[in-house]
Amino acid sequence: MSVRVRFAPSPTGRLHIGSARTALFNWLFARHEKGAFVLRIEDTDRERSRKEYLDTILSDLVWLGLTWDEGPYYQSLRLSLYQEFARSLLDSGKAYYCYCSPAELTLKKEKAILEKQPVKYDGTCRMLSLKQKSAFESEGRKPVLRFLCPENVKLSVEDAVRGKVDFSSEVLDDFVIVKSDGFPVYNFACVIDDHDLKISHVLRGEEHLSNTPRQLLLYRAFDWIPPIFGHLSIILDENRKKLSKREGSTFLDEFREAGFLPEALLNFLALLGWAPKENKEKLPLEDMIQRFALNGIIKSPAIFDFKKLEWMNSQYIRELTPEQFTEAVIPFLKKAGFLPEKELKEEKNRILPFISLYQERIKKLKDFPEQARFFFLEEIDLDLSVLKKWDKPELIFLFEELLGKIRNSSFRSEDLEKAVREFADLKGIKAGDLIHPLRYFLTGQENSPGIFDVMVSLGKEKAILRIEKGVLTLKRLMNPA
Ligand code: GLU
Repeated sequence: MSVRVRFAPSPTGRLHIGSARTALFNWLFARHEKGAFVLRIEDTDRERSRKEYLDTILSDLVWLGLTWDEGPYYQSLRLSLYQEFARSLLDSGKAYYCYCSPAELTLKKEKAILEKQPVKYDGTCRMLSLKQKSAFESEGRKPVLRFLCPENVKLSVEDAVRGKVDFSSEVLDDFVIVKSDGFPVYNFACVIDDHDLKISHVLRGEEHLSNTPRQLLLYRAFDWIPPIFGHLSIILDENRKKLSKREGSTFLDEFREAGFLPEALLNFLALLGWAPKENKEKLPLEDMIQRFALNGIIKSPAIFDFKKLEWMNSQYIRELTPEQFTEAVIPFLKKAGFLPEKELKEEKNRILPFISLYQERIKKLKDFPEQARFFFLEEIDLDLSVLKKWDKPELIFLFEELLGKIRNSSFRSEDLEKAVREFADLKGIKAGDLIHPLRYFLTGQENSPGIFDVMVSLGKEKAILRIEKGVLTLKRLMNPA
């Protein structure tokens, strides 16, 4: 049997990180088995489907590198196929038109809840006569098509992830398969498409397990062999709660905008619910493809560890060449307004050595413009409450003397460092006593890459100006006019 899997997003929202994981597992399985990864857009919910959601889903998949071999198939363009199969169920007496209005159905539902009965359609329209039907139609009622659910049916599935799952027939009723606007409901279109597209395995989120019995009933009604189902466990946050917006990012575009590399995100997502045989954390894509197996998918919920994702990202960032790293941070610099388009070409080579100083420091690309803003700003602000730490008059004298040495130095990183350390030795102080304020004068921050490299990147003129300004501000702090 050749493996054919599908990813079937509904364009009713942006791509959720859990759906991205579903796409990845399908993709890895297809690649491992040398099968096909099919993309299907489930856009039959006309009210909630939006073009902009579709666009972000497609561009996110491309960004991740989860390219598809077939499709996208749009369900909204396949209506005649669903109509044809709906008709065949109707003709064989396995489906019927139902004229109950939404208001009537709500009433029935409320009554059932009040009587503590299961909420199920009561079959009112199962046996309508032609006369009753035409009476409803002349009232202007538009029917839905319902599936006639067989009585006392026993359904179970051998789930590739969860093992044998039995479904209670209690929950099943004559469910709607075609809405009154002629559009199929998800369960119906999904079955027709999975069959028509010869899908061998349906790997999808656990939340769809409750749809599976209805889908199985449809397979039976058509006398089709169902695909192998595998329901992937839910992803929880570190507090074992459903991943929610409040806890941070939940949509793929947010991770992209924060500066996670697609390779890192894929590696991290793969381990959310899949345990490769050798307990390895960092797995390049080729390794994942080679090792991916359905029996490695874990049944228990996956825990989304944000810190681990950041760690993973920093590992992948380190592997980039300095040029690749620079290219990767440029969009983030542009977004922060630090790199005007017209200067991009000349600037790129100039700033590359500076950018490289951050390659082992940042966890996400967006950290770069945040941590390195001092480099791009003409002037930086110094916070008096920080400067207060250094309000020692002797420090002013020391810096004034040191400035002379810096002015006269070759302004190479090693020479600057040597000058500062020798100067500290000479004066009997710790080099750190000079380096900490120096860093603050130059960057307005208490953390930065090696300060002598930073000085060189800033350039002699700007660096000296900033030190002078720092010393002056410190002086004023001690002797307010
Ligand atoms: N359209 C469904 C969703 O976005 C997919 C369900 C399925 O994979 O069967 O969740």
